[in-house]
Amino acid sequence: MTEFTLGPLMAALDLAEFANRADADVVKSLVRTRGTFGADRPPAHAGLIRWSIDAFRNYRTAWLTHRAAAPELVPVRSPWKITHRRDAVDQRGVSRYEQTCWGRRYQSVDDSVREMWLLSLAAPVERPEIVTLAAANVAAFGGEGVPEKVRVVLFGATSPVAGPVVERTAAQIRDQAQEKVAPKLVEIVDGTARHPGRDCVSCPEVPACPALAAADLLPAVPTVPGPRRTLSVTDLRYYRSCPAKYHLRRQLKVRDTGLVEGRPVLVGRAVDETLRERHTGGARRCRPGDAPGGDVAMLPEDDRRTALEMLAKHAALCPFPDVDEVQDGRHRFLVAHDSRLDVVFGGTPDLLYRRGSCWVWRETKTSRRRLRRDRSLLREVPQLALAVLILSARASEDSPGGSRIELEQLRPDGCALEEVDPADPAQVAEAQEVIGELVEPLLRDTAFAPTPGDDCAQCEVRRWCAPGVEYLTANRRSAS
Ligand SMILES: [Zn+2]
Repeated sequence: MTEFTLGPLMAALDLAEFANRADADVVKSLVRTRGTFGADRPPAHAGLIRWSIDAFRNYRTAWLTHRAAAPELVPVRSPWKITHRRDAVDQRGVSRYEQTCWGRRYQSVDDSVREMWLLSLAAPVERPEIVTLAAANVAAFGGEGVPEKVRVVLFGATSPVAGPVVERTAAQIRDQAQEKVAPKLVEIVDGTARHPGRDCVSCPEVPACPALAAADLLPAVPTVPGPRRTLSVTDLRYYRSCPAKYHLRRQLKVRDTGLVEGRPVLVGRAVDETLRERHTGGARRCRPGDAPGGDVAMLPEDDRRTALEMLAKHAALCPFPDVDEVQDGRHRFLVAHDSRLDVVFGGTPDLLYRRGSCWVWRETKTSRRRLRRDRSLLREVPQLALAVLILSARASEDSPGGSRIELEQLRPDGCALEEVDPADPAQVAEAQEVIGELVEPLLRDTAFAPTPGDDCAQCEVRRWCAPGVEYLTANRRSAS
């Protein structure tokens, strides 16, 4: 099964643009060949095929509308590429550098205008100036000759309208790229820092990486051949809800942005956001009457009241000012590598702070009801189980004073703080059981078949899932 989301779309566009195949014909081939178009590449999931058809139609509509105003443009097949050659290897041990840009290329018949279309998975979004400038630089100076103008066009797969369009002259690009892009490229090729995270999935250095804690985290789970994966509790939760949802949303990163999220999710996020703002750079203890963040103010009145009550309860459990250090940004994402299963497990604590020599991983859970007590805490909140595994693998390297996991529960009518010790062998054994049960079926799965059910109502990828749509339609019919 392909994990390259834009692969089938790009292959379909190649047929339309370079083989002059009619759009309807391309869509038929896309379905018939499951996105491979006869080439030797893995087929696409049924959901990705539906997504690719939507994206293909949107792209063609956007492109044909755009070309109506610029009829001189034709598609360009071979990639533009800027090459710097050194006579001898330089101090980095390199003799050739290449700058490329991934997207779709067009130029006017007289080559006075070039266009680079950058594709994203949802609605088109503005990109940072350095991104459009680097793309324009490759388009301007990466081919034969130099055009007068370059346009960078932003396309989002869920919208039939492309834009914004950023237009620059070749002279402007030369000046601006020298000033802004060149220093960034030097920084990148000089960079040697290691930042373990989601990118570990494709990194050849992983088996010997000194920055990545490694251990046999789940000894009871059998090894399964397959590519390396990164897994978080969100991934495991999505998989348990529906394998197709996990594959589309978490692996392929497609999402229906038009869907409204549930109210408890929005309340929880607004509370988290307020606490994060307060705890970043703040050395004082939160108080019940402190002003909430903007996300809370935007909630409907009922939910706002709930969020304010939860925030007031937090004051009793706030770890400040007795905090020596807080980790934020990418340093808050903690990973550990299960080297036998070749899985990089990762988790982002709501708050990661140091008190003395002890690092504390705090999860904050907002809910209207108390946690169930007929199940163990690690089973009820699998984030804690994964935190135990990650911290136990990292124990030797970064916290000589040990580490601790805290679960802060905030309800409108109460609160509680519970602690878990990742060095306790009984906790580790239970964490291995809880996470192992979630991981084992996922690693074995190669089909990611949908399992329609109640979760379909709020599913972010239902739009591209025929069984999910059928399930909801049938259930509405039987309910009415
Ligand atoms: Zn606080």
